[in-house]
Amino acid sequence: MIQMDEKIQGIYQEVLKRNPGETEFHQAVLEVLECLGPVIVKHPNFADRKIIQRICEPERQIIFRVPWMDDNGEVQINRGFRVEFSSALGPYKGGLRFHPSVYLGIIKFLGFEQIFKNSLTGLPIGGGKGGSDFDPKGKSDDEVMRFCQSFMTELYRHLGEHTDVPAGDIGVGGREIGYMFGQYKRITNRYEPGVLTGKGLTWGGSLVRTEATGYGATFFVNEMLKARKDSFEGKICTVSGSGNVAIYTIEKIHQLGGKCVACSDSNGVIYDEKGLDLDLIKQLKEVERRRIEDYIKTHKHAKYIAKGNIWEIPCQVAMPSATQNEINGKDAATLVKNGCIAVGEGANMPTTPEGVKLFLEAKIAYGPGKAANAGGVATSALEMQQNAGRDSWTFEYTEKKLEDIMINIHNNCFETADEYGAPGNYVLGANICGFIKVANAMVAHGLI
Ligand code: GLU
Repeated sequence: MIQMDEKIQGIYQEVLKRNPGETEFHQAVLEVLECLGPVIVKHPNFADRKIIQRICEPERQIIFRVPWMDDNGEVQINRGFRVEFSSALGPYKGGLRFHPSVYLGIIKFLGFEQIFKNSLTGLPIGGGKGGSDFDPKGKSDDEVMRFCQSFMTELYRHLGEHTDVPAGDIGVGGREIGYMFGQYKRITNRYEPGVLTGKGLTWGGSLVRTEATGYGATFFVNEMLKARKDSFEGKICTVSGSGNVAIYTIEKIHQLGGKCVACSDSNGVIYDEKGLDLDLIKQLKEVERRRIEDYIKTHKHAKYIAKGNIWEIPCQVAMPSATQNEINGKDAATLVKNGCIAVGEGANMPTTPEGVKLFLEAKIAYGPGKAANAGGVATSALEMQQNAGRDSWTFEYTEKKLEDIMINIHNNCFETADEYGAPGNYVLGANICGFIKVANAMVAHGLI
């Protein structure tokens, strides 16, 4: 990666000082800033207008109390967040994460990445992110509903199809979006589908939205492989996680001729040499909300490795689809040593800076999350388009649009990396390409 020049180093130091303790946010900012040296040289007006400093400061940050009643009649209190980072390219757009690890630093890293990711999609969406430290694990359906209703009772005043449009992320899927949509409708007395994406298919949702992040990440890897005159055909793959992103990554890998042999959850890893039985995983995770350990109850030939490390399983393609910093330097070294030739990130920032450095040095095809997993939010923007036109598109039509968007993102990142003298470096390509579009819009809009 290119050395940070002095001016940018100073900006980074200021970010550290202004945002103490937010380590994930620091990490996300550093990765982008490290790539921007040559951009500032080419576009001195970005420095004059302090575009980098402004982009690192969210336009608005909302933190609120979320009180709710559990099934035992006891009052519970969580903290809610919405960080509206950038509206340079469109209304704030990005998911909501419900997970006990959530605090401002995580929401800010996600919101910051979302600015560039959304820019890369080529669609008119700004960047934002939100969520809560609420833990949906082990909660009853009614508890989740009461929490979502309380969360939306505060958040609704900040939303709108032209203002801010949340969606899902870890811990937020169709069920949670449904409860939040219902509460929004009740409070505002408006049936406004464009205010949330990831909706159910009978009430304004889009076909392919559920599959989009996983399918999109796999399309992206397919393009990286094609650029190297290779394909998924016969490739052994591993996919961490077993949520929505992982499930549809596995599905698309299988459709493209690859064989996915392992996935995981926070308790352990499933290894099935014959190739994962996706119907079973869907039944366990999507229908019954169980742990993947139960896979071996019916598939005795497979192995369950409690507390195992999925990156120790040899593979040619690795697709981290669980959470941030799940591949460290050691894991990256293991993957490369075991013959991994491509990594496509379905999760946001799943590789630590040491891991990224190793992948780039090894010159494997490495697709960073903000490019590789942009298919989810891109399809959210397609959902917004359908809502605005009171329309609904077919699966085939929508999937083709998603594939075209991913091919475009790949080509833009690839060409930008070339243009800036770092061929094959998709990190540099994605950061520069995503940044320039936002920066130009910010210059055009004046000092706001
Ligand atoms: N949470 C997803 C992401 O990380 C999707 C956001 C959206 O659809 O708005 O991009």
